[in-house]
Amino acid sequence: MTCPGYAGKIAVVDLGEDKVSIVETPERLCRDFIGGKGFVYALVSRYASFSSSDPLYDPGNVVVVAPGALAGLAPASSKVAFGARSPLSGLICDSYAGQVFAAKMKYAGFDALIIRGVAAEPVYILLYNGRVEVRSAARIWGAYTWDATAELKRETWRGASVAAIGPAGEKLVRYANVIIDGFRSAGRCGIGAILGYKRVKAIVVYGGRRPRVADPEGWKKSCVEVYKTLQSKPSAEYMSKYGTLRGVEACSKWSMCPGRHWRRPAPPRELVEKVSGKAFLERQVDRRTYSEYAGVIWGWACPVKCSKLVRPRIEGFEHLLVKPEYENIAMLGVIFDIYDPDEVLKLEWLVNNLGMDSISFGETASWLIELYSEGLLDRREVGGLTVEPRFGDPRVVEELARLTAERRGIGAVLAEGVEKAARLLGRGGERGVHVKGLESAAWDPRGWLGLALSYATADVGASHLRGWPQPRRRPSEGFDERALKTLIEDRDWKALLDTLGLCSFVPYEREEVEKMLKSALGRSVDEIWSIGWKVEAIARIYGALAGRVPEGDRIPERWMEPIPEGSMKGERAFRDLEEFRRALLSFYRARGYDEKLGIPTRETLERLGLTRYSWIVEAWERARREVERRLSAEAPG
Ligand code: SF4
Repeated sequence: MTCPGYAGKIAVVDLGEDKVSIVETPERLCRDFIGGKGFVYALVSRYASFSSSDPLYDPGNVVVVAPGALAGLAPASSKVAFGARSPLSGLICDSYAGQVFAAKMKYAGFDALIIRGVAAEPVYILLYNGRVEVRSAARIWGAYTWDATAELKRETWRGASVAAIGPAGEKLVRYANVIIDGFRSAGRCGIGAILGYKRVKAIVVYGGRRPRVADPEGWKKSCVEVYKTLQSKPSAEYMSKYGTLRGVEACSKWSMCPGRHWRRPAPPRELVEKVSGKAFLERQVDRRTYSEYAGVIWGWACPVKCSKLVRPRIEGFEHLLVKPEYENIAMLGVIFDIYDPDEVLKLEWLVNNLGMDSISFGETASWLIELYSEGLLDRREVGGLTVEPRFGDPRVVEELARLTAERRGIGAVLAEGVEKAARLLGRGGERGVHVKGLESAAWDPRGWLGLALSYATADVGASHLRGWPQPRRRPSEGFDERALKTLIEDRDWKALLDTLGLCSFVPYEREEVEKMLKSALGRSVDEIWSIGWKVEAIARIYGALAGRVPEGDRIPERWMEPIPEGSMKGERAFRDLEEFRRALLSFYRARGYDEKLGIPTRETLERLGLTRYSWIVEAWERARREVERRLSAEAPG
């Protein structure tokens, strides 16, 4: 019998075998892995091949798409998880997009989609009313994400939700992303490249069958109460107006901006004001335009509605965008020393339409500009550019974005991501800002005690969404137990939200989550609290198989250089590397990971209930052997 709150079916599309099957969602998958993030780690670890060294060109890699467990059943239950082995890091990775795709996929009758193999021709996958179809996408292959989305809605239903890749995914740019309904992205880790390799242009979902919930009357009441509670919180009003738009003001105050490729963490006030929240809000479109997109720009039943529609003030540029998140302003503007809001919006429009992650692209392209500016590359080595690669010039960024998406000239190098690009060029590796191959998000941890440990140990690499120690303190105060405890608590809370599909911009607290969980799924927060730790343990086992754990539990060299300016002048991510090493060991101990190998001990696996899963136990045994072999090969003498 289907668990309450679940659609009860998983679609498995094997493109190599040209076969579609629909299986029942196993009860123990719901019980132990809940949904969203939990499903991604369970299903990718179960079905992806981990034998190849490059997951990008491996037909055995899989893409898993899983709405959060509360998708369509709770206010702001907007998140759908996309997962695969990342072509950047080789790790299992999970990336999220918001709005209504998650709810529509569940209402179409599916708790997850597993895509295996490689199609002979471009296709899109359609999930609707309990059915699955694989249709030709030949005529939209090559299209921008916005155009592909519009075309697929015309071909199916106007009310369908579309997750599409752009030209960058088709050309296997390692950080190609997936764009939902033309506005929002599942950006990190290169899922778009894996879809491109499989020749899947898009996934379309449509349906109106809400799953049965545990307590129908209690659920209706909880939805109304929780919606009102969330809406009345002071932070909801702030988020509704600004979202993350004021991030540059905050990062500058705390010396945490990635300015000029992490060399200018506190840009001057007059520049920051140009890309302030106010500057972008002034570019909002009129109410009438909003109403056309009301069904797709806000998350399902969202009481906050932070997404605003804006249009750059550039003559002849008529395209609409959802207002940029801080990460886009920072990684398409600030990191390049670009502070013109219209140019930033134009770049965001381009990068979204090409289907590339702005964070990874911003890091890789600004790293290249730094190498050139410092004489480590000459003009002949940056083939394809018609302008000189200098900071502060939006034309350079635009050209680099196009070259990358086409894998042309220097773009073929940038398309590999910063770690591999440095290897290809044979220089600059020490300047790349990434962890385990995933380029860093736009928050410099030299301004926040312990944040660097979060980056170093995050399941996917340098993500800013895997736990922030509280409160903000200067790293020179010294890493301590409080920082470790709050980092882990915040990490597990975020993993819980990603598993349930609840938007982290909405001020959910434990009490509201409890109400929704109980009435919709018949479960409690306590019962599922360990999900964050559980997926992290799986991530570390498969990370060890990918050669990233424990060796990749490191921080980039740049973050150990003292901050050159601003209120945090002189700060480093840690006081020294010895302190980082001690913090890492404290983290291993707190999580029950082997202090030498960095992976869970047998007792930890048992405690988390993972010994019930034979493939995880087998992978763990293999990971132990492989890490021991690698470490003994490295040992002196
Ligand atoms: S708060 Fe913003 S991002 Fe989150 S669900 Fe609502 S509209 Fe979407």
